[in-house]
Amino acid sequence: MPDTVTNLYLHVPFCAQKCAYCAFYSEAASGELVNRYTAALVRELEMVAADLKPKTIFCGGGTPSLLNLRQWETILRAMERLELLGATEFSVECNPATVSADKAKLFRDFGINRISMGVQSLDEPLLDRLGRIHSRAMVFKSFDILRRAGFENINLDLMFAIPTQTMDIWHATLNEAMAMQSEHLSSYEVIYEDDTPLFDQLQAGEFSVNEELACEMYEELISRATTGGFHQYEIANFARDSKSINPAGQPAIPALACKHNLNYWRGGSYYGLGPSATGYVRGVRTKNWSNTQLYCDQLEKGKRAIESSEELSPLRRAGEIAAFGLRMNAGWPFADFQRVTSFDLRKEWAAEMEQLTERGHAIRNDVKFHLTHQGLRFADAAAALFLR
Ligand code: SF4
Repeated sequence: MPDTVTNLYLHVPFCAQKCAYCAFYSEAASGELVNRYTAALVRELEMVAADLKPKTIFCGGGTPSLLNLRQWETILRAMERLELLGATEFSVECNPATVSADKAKLFRDFGINRISMGVQSLDEPLLDRLGRIHSRAMVFKSFDILRRAGFENINLDLMFAIPTQTMDIWHATLNEAMAMQSEHLSSYEVIYEDDTPLFDQLQAGEFSVNEELACEMYEELISRATTGGFHQYEIANFARDSKSINPAGQPAIPALACKHNLNYWRGGSYYGLGPSATGYVRGVRTKNWSNTQLYCDQLEKGKRAIESSEELSPLRRAGEIAAFGLRMNAGWPFADFQRVTSFDLRKEWAAEMEQLTERGHAIRNDVKFHLTHQGLRFADAAAALFLR
């Protein structure tokens, strides 16, 4: 088959309990269902393996680290048998409450080389407020376990603008996170998604959103991460090492940037397996059922568990790719965009680029178009202009 797909996302749909802000598809883990899911995921891997040669794998959730050793070993041995191991970057999301030395060793033994740890805050009351199952002590302990197991590429996920979070608390969390010397940092502002407890509390007037403070916290994040030796390469992502992984002459992207996410933002193909996972392969976007029982039923019948698939028109896809890429500090080099989409950003989106440039939200030169520091704050609105 021409051009086998080189990026793979695996979704683990289980969490110990639901966090107050979370709208991702996940449910409480029950032993029997997790075993069924594990077998179904292996079945789904078998169905796509011939079209896959992963260079990046990202296992997210949910809480992938909630699977026990036996379940993990089942998945990893199947991947070994299917010749799906050996990726340059193989990331697994871990909750600090579910990391153990045995699991860390198993991960290392099968080539998992990057851990993304959902820390969110290092303030105990805020962890409670968010409904996280871990304490701050577990964060430090798990980080230590991972380092001892040999992980040299760890991401810390942090949240800001959490209700009742003050600037002093945010500052203290950032300082402690910097002291941990992780290789990567992702940090998102709390968003209020429908059907989450935090959204309901906001609707009920239990707290209000302080936009000004959220902006100041974002500025503080960029400033503290930069002085801490990180390079911002996307709105919410920072990595160490400024060695460029792009061809000479292109804007530098830190060598420890998440390669799997770079593929999304640059419009690349990927398989997405597991309940609710989306994939994009050869112009077709697919989405699996967001129901673990149904997902297992389908796979047990020997069918993929795809709820919907959609072939995007080339122009619509190019618009999406433009929008994704603008999230990156590097923006879109015109030549790269044309190579990926066959469309010329300068022709198709000239008016939109001018609009953003006039507002001071973007810069256009002979070779590329990128958002300014201020423009990145409003990247979602900017991105919407490019959709067709
Ligand atoms: S652990 Fe992650 S996926 Fe699970 S409920 Fe919390 S935020 Fe959502």
